[in-house]
Amino acid sequence: MKKIRNSMVRRCPRLGNPVPFNYCEFCGDEQQPCFKILDCWWEHFDVMQYLKDNLTEDQFSRLMEARPKPKVASLIELIEQARKRNS
Ligand code: SF4
Repeated sequence: MKKIRNSMVRRCPRLGNPVPFNYCEFCGDEQQPCFKILDCWWEHFDVMQYLKDNLTEDQFSRLMEARPKPKVASLIELIEQARKRNS
């Protein structure tokens, strides 16, 4: 992945201090992007397109799978699991 956008910095909600974009690109498992990279950077630039252009298809798929689900989707999933357990 190309190392660009290094001058962009934002406050990391996980660490509580400022981090450069290139930190977010490589701080995940196996030096992959952080699972929150889309949520954290979408307001700053087209991070989705940037990642599509710079990650392999496999890396991009793994990132999409690792993304946190919206709370409503998580709740619906939990309700479905409870229903299956009780039926
Ligand atoms: S993408 Fe990850 S490391 Fe980067 S600011 Fe967000 S939570 Fe922190």
